[in-house]
Amino acid sequence: MLSGLRDVTARWPRRISAKLLIISSVVAVIGFSAICVNVMLDMRHGEEALARQTLENLATSIDADISRNIEIYDLSLRAVANNMLLPEIAAVSKPVRHLILFDHATTAKHFGAIQVFDAEGRLTIDASSLDPLPENRGEEDYFKVHRDNPGAGLFISRPMLFRGAYSIVLSRRISDTDGGFIGVVAGSIRFSYFHELFERLSLDPEDTITVLKRDRTIMMRRPFDLDIIGKNLSVLQAWRADNLPAGSSYSGQGPVDPTPRLYVRSNGNNSLFVVAGKPLTAVFALWQREALRIGAVVLALALFLLGSSIVLAREIGRRANAESRLEEMATTDALTGLKNRRKFDDVIESEWRRAMRQKTPIALLMIDADHFKSYNDTFGHQAGDQVLVGIAICISDSVRRAGDCAARYGGEEFAVLLPNTSAADAFKVAEAIRGKVQGWSDDETSSTVSCGIASLVPAIGMDWSILVSAADKALYAAKAGGRNQSVVASLPKLSLVA
Ligand code: GH3
Ligand code: MG
Ligand code: MG
Repeated sequence: MLSGLRDVTARWPRRISAKLLIISSVVAVIGFSAICVNVMLDMRHGEEALARQTLENLATSIDADISRNIEIYDLSLRAVANNMLLPEIAAVSKPVRHLILFDHATTAKHFGAIQVFDAEGRLTIDASSLDPLPENRGEEDYFKVHRDNPGAGLFISRPMLFRGAYSIVLSRRISDTDGGFIGVVAGSIRFSYFHELFERLSLDPEDTITVLKRDRTIMMRRPFDLDIIGKNLSVLQAWRADNLPAGSSYSGQGPVDPTPRLYVRSNGNNSLFVVAGKPLTAVFALWQREALRIGAVVLALALFLLGSSIVLAREIGRRANAESRLEEMATTDALTGLKNRRKFDDVIESEWRRAMRQKTPIALLMIDADHFKSYNDTFGHQAGDQVLVGIAICISDSVRRAGDCAARYGGEEFAVLLPNTSAADAFKVAEAIRGKVQGWSDDETSSTVSCGIASLVPAIGMDWSILVSAADKALYAAKAGGRNQSVVASLPKLSLVA
């Protein structure tokens, strides 16, 4: 069971497992965080798309309302322009002429009275009065544009003070049958129309609605600011005439204040269009709260995971150290520090199989202290122990190659396994050990060792006990031969080397 454990620890060191645990936790945290970031970004895109759609719907519905009113008013202007050509107009009385020229649309709440100007800009007919006071509008843009350009169609002026109220003026040219200029018909839509329209909508104070002409002149804006009405935005990159097409949007600073907003233009191609804006902080407020909540939970989980991984890794490390210490103790001889018999049996088993596979020689030295019983009897058991330690040091000093295994085989007997070693080389090692032991012990308490040596190339089916008993026999021969000597086993029937 213990050898099984050793195999596992050799193949998969515990320290690597602790590292692996930390690495996998870090990878899991990174992976989990990446998924969360991805999900949160998706949510952010979703919020933005929803806000864009809401703003587009808002802008388009305002745009539709404004366009419908302009169209209704324009129909009245067209009717006046056409009816002015009727020859009877000059002949009928003023009240009848009013009835012919002006329909009910001209009396609607936010519409100014329609006026007709002659070719010099003099006011000739006014829907609000049968006898209007004389006035001349010959210098106004809405007059000059029709005088100079027969194809101007419906002209929408810049916002202006018109008859005491801020309005936009709508005008059409009155041409005779030959296309000659005979005057202008003009009317106005008061700002109160826009105010009322915007008030009907439930908007946040920071939301903006901007009504623009196609040339990017601000016609109206919510929140209302007289200073920016009439300002032309085509100088601003995002608002340029070739930018911000119908239904498009952009995020960033607007034309009035520094608050970054999501601006969406209405769909449709009317003479006026609407841009609805919402502060980005409001667009992402919900998302931000969610992101913070999820982020905090993920952070807490990540910290918990990393913390518990570190604790676990430390525990694994501690256990690994304890296990290797235990393993060390279980395989080491306490007195001499050499490998113990159990470990030696494991090593000889595996080295024997390796030698068999690789067809290489494997050598074994059996080393036994000479006359040790009498040494103990003479100098005491403790002095005997010191001699055993000394012999172990002499053995360790002589056996340095990786793969060699020196062990205390039992009592005052030692075994040295030398893989891939011929009998001749093993003999040299044995002699080196024997010489060191002899040299090390002083004359008075001289102690020596005898060595039995065996080396062979294991054949298939052969058991390593053959090598042990051959070395043992050689050791007996060394004892019999007078001790303090090394004897190589003769193995004529086996694959003996040297
Ligand atoms: P030989 O030269 O034939 O090997 O004679 P020997 O006296 O060494 O052999 P024997 O097997 O008769 O005696 C071995 C002695 O080794 C017996 C025992 O007292 C002693 N011995 C065995 N283990 C230890 C040990 O751990 N410490 C000490 N001090 N003596 C030990
Ligand atoms: Mg002995
Ligand atoms: Mg013995």
